[in-house]
Amino acid sequence: MQAEWLNRLSFDKLTARKVTPFDTKRYFISEDVIEFTNIIMSEYGNLTPPNEGFVYWAGKINNDKIIINSAFAPDTISTIGSVEIKSRSNFDFVLYLSKHKLNHIANIHSHSGSWVGHSTGDDFMVPFKKPGLLSIVVPYYGTKEKLLLLHCGIHRFDNDFFSQLSNKYKRNRFKSIQIESFLFDSRDKNISKWK
Ligand SMILES: [Zn+2]
Repeated sequence: MQAEWLNRLSFDKLTARKVTPFDTKRYFISEDVIEFTNIIMSEYGNLTPPNEGFVYWAGKINNDKIIINSAFAPDTISTIGSVEIKSRSNFDFVLYLSKHKLNHIANIHSHSGSWVGHSTGDDFMVPFKKPGLLSIVVPYYGTKEKLLLLHCGIHRFDNDFFSQLSNKYKRNRFKSIQIESFLFDSRDKNISKWK
């Protein structure tokens, strides 16, 4: 069973196969959430040297209608090629979800170049991995352009592994909207990295 699973994983990595799931899910994302995420990613990307960044997205799930109206920038340990959430900040994120009655929907992180696939670390070292979780990879540290979901890798955790969603699925199922949003920056801006 495990060998079969590993073969499947290797196959997906080698071919960078993208999937168009046969479902009826629709994602509506607040424009403010996208803008906030863009700002956070570019702050990481404009450090010297640039760092990978991380943001959580949350919102409401009504059957197949998923509304993302909230973004939370956790405190991290970031480098040019990695980003890790501080455990205290994960605790704060759970409190934030509970306080605002939100569902955790997506993890967003950035990569250095155009490649927006999932590394092995991206597959396994995922905070709060659960069915339906989205993992969105932003190219060029989020510094090259405004955050466009079509240019990002959107991966979803279904049936115990991550698959990258096709451009067709992204175009048809993801829509940005103007709605009231909750944005929270939980980074410790007193550390030298941000000064
Ligand atoms: Zn990654």
